[in-house]
Amino acid sequence: MAANIIDGKAVAEEIKQQLAAEAGQLREAGRPVRLVAVQVGEDAASKLYTDMQARHCESVGIEYELLELPGDLSEADFLGRIEQLNADASVSGMILQMPLPDQIDTARAQTAVSPAKDVEGIHPENMGRLFTGTGVVAPCTPMAAFELLQRACPDLSGKETVVVGRSTIVGKPIAMMLQHKKISATVTICHTRTRDLRFHTRRAEVLVAATGYSQVCWQRYQRARKAGEDVQPPGLEPLIAADMVSEGAIVIDVATNRVPKGFDEQGNPLKNEKGKTAMRTVGDVDFEGVKDKVAAITPVPGGVGPVTVAMLLKNTIACAKIA
Ligand code: NDP
Repeated sequence: MAANIIDGKAVAEEIKQQLAAEAGQLREAGRPVRLVAVQVGEDAASKLYTDMQARHCESVGIEYELLELPGDLSEADFLGRIEQLNADASVSGMILQMPLPDQIDTARAQTAVSPAKDVEGIHPENMGRLFTGTGVVAPCTPMAAFELLQRACPDLSGKETVVVGRSTIVGKPIAMMLQHKKISATVTICHTRTRDLRFHTRRAEVLVAATGYSQVCWQRYQRARKAGEDVQPPGLEPLIAADMVSEGAIVIDVATNRVPKGFDEQGNPLKNEKGKTAMRTVGDVDFEGVKDKVAAITPVPGGVGPVTVAMLLKNTIACAKIA
């Protein structure tokens, strides 16, 4: 891997080694380090995710339990179970698997988890603490982006930093972390109403891209085709083209776009050997176009993603420490 390509997998492994040592110390002191994943009903994608969580937890010595609840559970009963877990001293942290069934309000469910056990860092109290800079945990993906950025550029003070994307779970928390006094980057946030995205990205010394734009285009196209509309396949060019990134910039690409590898002349997506749409995972930035001119860049996949998982483990240990 070229020196300027940030190896997210290697960073994640290094963090996990540190966390394994911390988990060991907690256990020796008789303190529980236990993560409970709560799943309501069955979901194939969620199963893949929970299996992965179990593996990662095991690898650092965090006890992992998957609590499977019936899909027709009422909201009141669900909230009752969350209260039990909040009160259970043997549980360090909790993660709610999404999606929850319709009868359970997602925001109410997330707020019901004790902020002290909120390993996803998404409870409004923890979000608020992110604002004041007093938090113990924070949302995992912004933490991962921030960790990689700090490793690539330990002194971000005054750096022209452009964050593209302003979601509550990714863009805004990253922008907030970068503005804390001890970091003091100069932050611009861009979004769909930004008048001239290129103007902003080109002057960025640090660029954080978190939109998922290509995947949205692909999903929009699929919906239109399903509705029988006569639409052209999307170009699927990265939102941030090579000429939108300046020489020597540091680029953290948070996006994980699952898009087709290409289309045939009739506009049908190319198929793989199993007859299914041949897919690839790409970020928001034209990686091939910029990799030789930037100072550092995260690949997609293999950049922010693996570190996000490590941050979930880090939050679990942080919650175990304050229990
Ligand atoms: P959201 O859809 O919630 O937010 C997307 C943001 O991007 C919005 O603020 C939107 O602006 C902005 N945006 C979209 N299109 C454009 C455009 N053409 N120009 C400028 N801004 C645009 O997505 P998330 O924040 O949840 O996720 C963002 C990406 O990060 C996705 O690719 C997702 O898969 C990835 N992700 C990766 C994770 C990881 O572990 N690596 C974990 C979580 C997310 P507006 O507010 O105006 O609508």
